[in-house]
Amino acid sequence: MNYKKTENFKFVQNKKCEYFPCHKGVKKEDFNCLFCFCPLYMLGDKCGGNYIINSGIKDCTNCTIPHSKGGYDYIMTKMEEVVKKASDF
Ligand code: SF4
Repeated sequence: MNYKKTENFKFVQNKKCEYFPCHKGVKKEDFNCLFCFCPLYMLGDKCGGNYIINSGIKDCTNCTIPHSKGGYDYIMTKMEEVVKKASDF
């Protein structure tokens, strides 16, 4: 088989979403909706993102990692940790 090399699986937008773009700091045309809910949230302080603790709750409002260029690749580098932590439950 002759596959064309693409990486379209890394990016999707839902411009009809009522919240699009839901975070500031990423150009609209680059805004990636693929990880609408960040899979790294469960890693707590090990996610590597720009979160704050607000009233005892992790607040990701100012983090653009899941929605930025390169965010897919970063998240995939951390998925082994996510799977390990999930298997510990
Ligand atoms: S959105 Fe950012 S701060 Fe929140 S869990 Fe994901 S990487 Fe961490």
